[in-house]
Amino acid sequence: MTDQKSRGDKYPERVDIRRPAAFFDRDGVLNVDHGYAHRPEQLEWIDGALEAVRLLNETGYYVFVVTNQSGIARGYYDEDAVKSFHAHMQKSLAAHRAHVDAFYYCPHHPEGTIKSLAVHCRCRKPGPGMLEQAAREWAIDLSTSFLIGDKDEDMAAAAAFNIRGIKFNFRVDSLTDLVRREIATRSNRQDWRHS
Ligand SMILES: [Mg+2]
Ligand SMILES: [Zn+2]
Repeated sequence: MTDQKSRGDKYPERVDIRRPAAFFDRDGVLNVDHGYAHRPEQLEWIDGALEAVRLLNETGYYVFVVTNQSGIARGYYDEDAVKSFHAHMQKSLAAHRAHVDAFYYCPHHPEGTIKSLAVHCRCRKPGPGMLEQAAREWAIDLSTSFLIGDKDEDMAAAAAFNIRGIKFNFRVDSLTDLVRREIATRSNRQDWRHS
């Protein structure tokens, strides 16, 4: 599920204009993982996250958030709360001249208390469903795309979707450096390809 679509820079019919995508897990990567964060006042950005997103925006990457939100299936909060939280993130990003192109979230969990959401789904990471949805909705160059996450489930979703997975630990890694390195690697690869 996604709570944001159809920006002006979407080219569904122009598959020749593919752009690389940076997929971000949310909790523990962009914002501090307080455990089921869903109220705006619980948004605490990880150091360098805003700058990392802005760098990617400026370099022409799509930026997507792919987040498991089993708190919805567990009845801790509803989808509107998640959408508001993402709107709040977007507003905060805008103040730093940055944006996320789309937020994808999985509301399911097999042991959820909300019956309709207590299912095994393909979108819950390690499943690749959210990445697949993004690839259907946006003209993405998968060969140069990557996913940054803090858990094995994130790496497994990237592997299942056949893109690069980068494990991030906010205690030791700088998100900005990591993204800078990734952007440089891609341009080196392109220089090499075209020379
Ligand atoms: Mg996480
Ligand atoms: Zn799901």
